[in-house]
Amino acid sequence: MAESFITAEVDFNADGKQTGFLRLPHSVHRSAYGWIPVPVVVIQNGKGPTLLLMAGNHGDEYEGQIALANLAQELQPEDMRGRVIILPMANFPAAQAGTRVSPIDGGNLNRSFPGNPRGTPTEKIAHYIDEILLPMTDYIVDLHSGGSSLYYEPTLLRGLGQDSEESRKLAKLQDAFDLPYAWVFTSGGGRSSTSPTCMGAANRKSVVSIMAELGGAGGVSNHALHMVERGLRRILHSLDMLPAYQPDALQGTRTMESVGMVYAYQNGVLEMHKNIGDPVAKGETVALIHHPDTPLQPADKVVSPLDGSVLCKRAMGQVERGDTVYQIGADIKLAAERGVPQ
Ligand SMILES: [Zn+2]
Repeated sequence: MAESFITAEVDFNADGKQTGFLRLPHSVHRSAYGWIPVPVVVIQNGKGPTLLLMAGNHGDEYEGQIALANLAQELQPEDMRGRVIILPMANFPAAQAGTRVSPIDGGNLNRSFPGNPRGTPTEKIAHYIDEILLPMTDYIVDLHSGGSSLYYEPTLLRGLGQDSEESRKLAKLQDAFDLPYAWVFTSGGGRSSTSPTCMGAANRKSVVSIMAELGGAGGVSNHALHMVERGLRRILHSLDMLPAYQPDALQGTRTMESVGMVYAYQNGVLEMHKNIGDPVAKGETVALIHHPDTPLQPADKVVSPLDGSVLCKRAMGQVERGDTVYQIGADIKLAAERGVPQ
């Protein structure tokens, strides 16, 4: 096993349901010999796949944290086979503070992989996930949302797979999750821009990896929470880990690739004209930026440089130059049996 200063209070190889903490040593003024408590749950019943479920990778993304705590309470070892490892608040300092990055070191966990066993607390968590947890994992589901600044309708994220077998598994997970939207990384199979993310780490370790964006705007979407709780059970069932579960009828997923962002070029107060799923045409005015500090200055138009549909939108009223106003997606068709573009 790789070196890590983090120790686990749970036995990852024991049957039954256990909870405890990953102890991350943290020597500070108020606690010379203390540790940061990253909560962990392990539920295992004999042989079968290992599924790692993670939320709180970004600390201001809440739907996944609730869904994983509920699942940890409801899932009983006797009802399942294989092993589920749950990290409901993966970057615990960030999740405790309700901020995207850790208040201790400014670390963005999902930009910190592969991490560093001797680095900052965030880098140590990334390293522990990468070197200790991923090698024992077959499938990982990393639950996000738009956080404080963005909003998504429930959207699955995935690559195309590094070979046909992984492509089939990813397509099966997408169908099982059955979220309203999917954003498929069609360039580089999720390997390039996702390199410092948990998905990048999973790809390097050949762990089948999906993410989800589940809402955001700094709050909790009831609709997204319902969809992820349903989806997690459907995923467990599809992996033969929850055999008695009876999935309800498929609702269907609109599958897109990201074609780019619409950015703000002025500072001011944002008036959005588009919702998730709305079509957008190149050259169309999609938002206004108002300047109530200089009341006679006309609002600036935000013009889309792209054709497509809205995949994600800004959730905050104030905006600065360089902020993402919309993410634009384009519908794609995937060959059903292989999960690759037609
Ligand atoms: Zn996130």
